[in-house]
Order: sequence, then C-alpha cells, then structure tokens
Amino acid sequence: MLGAMGVSVSVLASGSRGNSAIVCSSRTRILVDAGISCRETFKRMKAAGDDPRTLSAILITHEHSDHVYGLHMLAKKLNITVFMTGATHQAWAKAVRDAVGERPALAKLEVFSSGRSFHLGDIAVTPFTIPHDAADPVGFTFRAEGVKVGMATDLGYLPPNVCDQLRGCDLLVVESNHDLEMLRVGPYPWSVKQRVMSRVGHLSNEALAEFFTSDYDGKASYIVLAHLSEQNNHPEIARGAAQKALGCRQTLLHNRVMLATQSEPMEAIRL
Ligand SMILES: [Zn+2]
Ligand SMILES: [Zn+2]
Repeated sequence: MLGAMGVSVSVLASGSRGNSAIVCSSRTRILVDAGISCRETFKRMKAAGDDPRTLSAILITHEHSDHVYGLHMLAKKLNITVFMTGATHQAWAKAVRDAVGERPALAKLEVFSSGRSFHLGDIAVTPFTIPHDAADPVGFTFRAEGVKVGMATDLGYLPPNVCDQLRGCDLLVVESNHDLEMLRVGPYPWSVKQRVMSRVGHLSNEALAEFFTSDYDGKASYIVLAHLSEQNNHPEIARGAAQKALGCRQTLLHNRVMLATQSEPMEAIRL
C-alpha cells in the first residue's frame, strides 16, 4: 500500500479545477488540500490501491474553491480533523454552503499559525506565508524519517521567506502556472490577466526558472511542477523552461522534473 514504508507523496489533482495531494510517512497520512470532490478523491485514491479511510488529517493551504471544494464532505465522511489557519477558516466558513444552502461546520477543526511548526503524528509540518490573494495563504514543508518535502503553489512570486523554506528539500512541489507570453496573448479578460500576473497571483514558468537559476540550492531528487494553467501554459513548455534553468546549473545531478496534472493522479513518489 502507498506509504507502507518511508515517506511518499502523491498528487491526486493539480490546477485551477482542483488541488489535492497526499503526504505519507510510514505512520501518518495527510491529505493536503481538498479541492476535488469527495467522490473523485476516493476514486483516485482507490485507483492507486490506496484506502481513504487510512488518512490521518486534512491540511488546507487557503480557502479558494480549487483547494476546498470537497472539504466538508471529506471531513464528514472520514471523520478526521481539518487543520487550517484561523483566518482561512473564517473565510471558508463565510463562503461555504452545503447542497441545501446551509452553512456547514467542521466537526473536528484545529487552527494553526503560519510560521509555527507542529506535528501530525511523526510528520513535522511547517506552514509558511505565501503571497496570494486569499485571507491567510500558506505553503508547507513536511519533515519525517530524515526526508524534507516542500510545497508551494498559488503564489505571485517567490519572496525570500519562501526560498528559505524550500532549502534542503528532497522533493519540491512548486507552481509553474503560466507562460507569460501565452497569458499575454491568451483569452482571459485583461482584469484576470492582471490578477494572475500580480504579486498575489500565480507563479509563471519564467519566475520559477529564475528561482532555479539563482536561489535554488539544488538538493531535490524530484521537482514536481504544479498548478499548471490549462489555458495559458503547456506541459512541455513548463517542463522545458524548468529543465533549461536547471541545466544551467551543471552541478545539479538529480532534480528529476515531473508534471502534476488536473485530470489524473501522479504515481506516488517514494523518498
Ligand atoms: Zn488560490
Ligand atoms: Zn489554486
């Protein structure tokens, strides 16, 4: 079974129509974001031979619907604790309605603060602030069994605090949202283009490439490009930009680049 030994990460879905991933140690299994429906989450887990009932907790990065769409139903069906910041919970609670228009509540909720690490079982979780237009958005690092995993999507740029957090990671899941030129000439209205490109929007292939050539420490064995735009990016353009930037750093040996997609789960990455 997934995560039976060591640390593993599997991205169930990634993109503006829903985000969800699983981070496991041999003892603890965390669902990071719940942006696809409960049914689809279960379906994708089962297809990978994984049992949803073994999840220990749900962690939420921010309240945008592509990160919380299935949250209420998943928390209810699995009867597990949801972890998010207080401001994210308030924003979620204000916006969410169930199928009959009622405001649902979470039976088990734990609030964390950005910058303060905590443990979920044997996994040390560090939430850190990211620049994005949500109430209190965070990225995460996870440490267990001598392995470090970093996740940062939905961010307008990579400020120094985020670059610091991403140092020493064995696996990075990072946003490579759009190709700047495709976004410029693409179909989005100007106001939406401006939002995506802003300092609290989404990270471009170009901005990520800049990180790889300048700030990145080169420690990761795997780099997963995530939250790709279906309108304003192409998987091979994103991959090409990342590989070219990493290729400029001749000392980097590992750094296998992989792509997370919207429509199907990635195979689990074992560390
Ligand atoms: Zn978002
Ligand atoms: Zn998102």
